[in-house]
Amino acid sequence: MKLLEGKTAIITGATRGIGKGIAEVFAQNGANIAFTYASSVAKAEELEKELGSLTKIRGFQSDASDFDSAQKLADDVIKEFGQIDIVVNNAGITKDNLILRMSKEDWDEVIRINLDSVFNLTKAIIKPMMKQKKGSIINMSSVVGVKGNAGQANYAASKAGIIGFSKSIALELGSRNIRCNVVAPGFIETEMTEALDKKTIQEWRNNIPLKRGGTPEDIANACLYLASDLSSYVTGHVLNVNGGMLTY
Ligand code: NAP
Repeated sequence: MKLLEGKTAIITGATRGIGKGIAEVFAQNGANIAFTYASSVAKAEELEKELGSLTKIRGFQSDASDFDSAQKLADDVIKEFGQIDIVVNNAGITKDNLILRMSKEDWDEVIRINLDSVFNLTKAIIKPMMKQKKGSIINMSSVVGVKGNAGQANYAASKAGIIGFSKSIALELGSRNIRCNVVAPGFIETEMTEALDKKTIQEWRNNIPLKRGGTPEDIANACLYLASDLSSYVTGHVLNVNGGMLTY
């Protein structure tokens, strides 16, 4: 059974890593896909080709941190796809440093791209979802947003902010049959984590009860559940997908 047949999903930041994994799993499950990216035009075209035989898919170069661009994206998707059933706010960046050395610019950029982006696209898709009387919003937080992390105060603040925002949206829009949930990945091996040195990566793996880093597919499968009607009574939830790194 294809769990997302007949649904249209917007996935932000799908040219690489977790977002790409979500696009692949959603396409295999029958969803039509509009995805975004910041600058990876060639990778976007590759993804359109890779999944184009499975489903209707289109990439949009759209800066998630820009309010007007999010509105334009929602308008373009409605024009081209006719509906928006699922939104995965996945685009995100890190600019790590200890607070003593963290610049105001790095604080602002991380908050804008990771947190403002979630507000921007949620605002833009709420009206179409209200008209449809149905919708699932999935926001990508992090284990770091749940527990904090030395050297990532900006990133942790953005990811914790996503949790408070998502719970509020779940409370506000439950009566409209719009669900809003959070996925909090642990250590997932993507280009974002490749930036860490090899020793740190091995230490992360050793400290995980399941003894491995997660894959984009691990996160995508959690998103599939939250996007589909299998989770029709689940809203305001934070789903930890972290190999046991955090058990509360
Ligand atoms: P990634 O490999 O670095 O990919 C980031 C994606 O976001 C790319 O498609 C990138 O597009 C896009 N993007 C970046 N800035 C953007 C912007 N301003 N507007 C639109 N798109 C933008 O990251 P990832 O590891 O897959 O992480 C995906 C999400 O999961 C992030 O929110 C991250 O914080 C979260 N997460 C990751 C981990 C992990 O261990 N990897 C753990 C917890 C949470 P371009 O290719 O064009 O740059």
